[in-house]
Amino acid sequence: MEKIALLWKKFKDNKVRCGLCNHRCIINDGDYGLCGVRKNKKGKLYSLVYGKAIAKNIDPIEKKPFFHFLPGTKSYSIATVGCNFSCLHCQNADISQFSKERTIEGSGFTLGRDLLPEEIVENALKNDCKSIAYTYTEPTVFTEYALDTMKLAKKKGLKNVWVSNGYMTKECLDLIAPYLDAINVDLKSFSEDFYREVCGARLAPVLENLKTIKKKRIWLEITTLLIPTKNDSEKEIKKIAKFISKELGRETPWHISRFFPAYKLVYLPPTDTAVIKKAVEIGKTEGLKYVYSGNIPGDSYEDTYCPKCGAKMIDRTGYFIERFDKKGKCAECGEDLNIIE
Ligand code: SF4
Repeated sequence: MEKIALLWKKFKDNKVRCGLCNHRCIINDGDYGLCGVRKNKKGKLYSLVYGKAIAKNIDPIEKKPFFHFLPGTKSYSIATVGCNFSCLHCQNADISQFSKERTIEGSGFTLGRDLLPEEIVENALKNDCKSIAYTYTEPTVFTEYALDTMKLAKKKGLKNVWVSNGYMTKECLDLIAPYLDAINVDLKSFSEDFYREVCGARLAPVLENLKTIKKKRIWLEITTLLIPTKNDSEKEIKKIAKFISKELGRETPWHISRFFPAYKLVYLPPTDTAVIKKAVEIGKTEGLKYVYSGNIPGDSYEDTYCPKCGAKMIDRTGYFIERFDKKGKCAECGEDLNIIE
């Protein structure tokens, strides 16, 4: 379903500028934005993916990953096609880069199945999910669809969580913030070169948004995928850890994930697990309370330890979790474990 877009302006000659993400695309009449799912039709900008889900799944919230937000609950997860990044290592390139590599209209390829916001909320409630996750691709590019769903979800007592690259504009963030309970932002690197060459974007707006998200008191977790030779130097890992610790707060969970060859980076090897473990240690040395490994099933670095006394308070094996805490406090010493229930 097409829907008139949010946050755009019209210029002369029927050109429009989209204000959803920091690309701020200027789009000629008949053209698409960089994300491929927003089109200028006769001087008006439309979302082409409203009500069109390309993925819907019931996932453990730990899969997003969120380790400190509603642990042990299910999240109804949805996505549309399209993304404003073009990461060379994308794990979901079949749906995120879909629209950039094929012409949507008249291509014969589907944009997704009809699934209205009301149905998403209904399905989430029916399946005992505590939240709705806007995930797999970049929710910023389907903000209209997400926002309508988020408003309905809130009314029904469900939480809303985004898994995002954090590249939305300030205006977009202001729009969604009142309905957004938690967000996991991919801080992909601490280098502008990496963002430009690997993702087709810029680092600075992401850092700005992370600080704003924290100020708005939205629960924030960070994920960094370490890619061999691209962003896995100790120097860069230290820079990310310092930024999180100083600018976002020591209680911000940081997930450091193992890369596996994908999309256009199939020629690189998987990340050595020793590199991930070293990065976790660097994060802790920089004062972060909760640093986790990702994509290493059964690893002890997936567990939550009390930052004060060191006792294990949440044991995770894959998506099985066992809790020993007392209502978010350490059962041994009473320290707050920064868990949002
Ligand atoms: S969401 Fe971003 S990439 Fe897509 S049209 Fe708007 S500014 Fe361009």
